[in-house]
Amino acid sequence: MVVKTFWQEPDRTQLETRLTAVDGDRVQVDDTIFFAFSGGQESDRGSIAARPVLLAENHGREIVYTLQSTAGLKVGDRVTMRIDGARRRRLMRLHFAAELVLELVYQSHSQVKKTGAHIAADKARIDFQWAGNIAGIFPELQARVDQIIADDRTITCDFSDRAGERRFWKIDGFAEVPCGGTHVKSTGEIGALRFKRKNPGRGLERIEIYLDD
Ligand SMILES: [Zn+2]
Repeated sequence: MVVKTFWQEPDRTQLETRLTAVDGDRVQVDDTIFFAFSGGQESDRGSIAARPVLLAENHGREIVYTLQSTAGLKVGDRVTMRIDGARRRRLMRLHFAAELVLELVYQSHSQVKKTGAHIAADKARIDFQWAGNIAGIFPELQARVDQIIADDRTITCDFSDRAGERRFWKIDGFAEVPCGGTHVKSTGEIGALRFKRKNPGRGLERIEIYLDD
């Protein structure tokens, strides 16, 4: 199974790895820093052996990368993998911001139902079944998020089940939260945030989260 070095070293942007499969335009490697879309967090962008990765997909616990071309590549080749580090940082900051917002909404509204979420490099969004205007909770939500970011609390990440590759994160004041994404090391790394409300449908409310750099 591929070693997911993006969990242990989320800031790493270059890795020497080895091809374990080459099938048409698709390859697999024995070790990777290139995250594949899951849990609403978009895939990284980057290259393998200097060829752009067009698609990264989880197949069970393996990750399959579709390259622009695999001409000249064969199983066993040592190759360099690179990812867009600036984009990864924004994804990690917005990903954790969204997780924090979700946990805080659950803490104050235990019956609320999340209907969707997406983490892109420019913004994150979370959708809820919600009666009324969700912007009503923004002042308190903003104050609590800002405080946790100012506290710069350590974010602990580890396996809850190593064989099954199930992971969690934890910060002081919160229960363990299951998540297989990539995470910043402390809440201070998130930086300043701002929220925007959208109404994507009847009875649905959306919180959009932007980095306020
Ligand atoms: Zn996460």
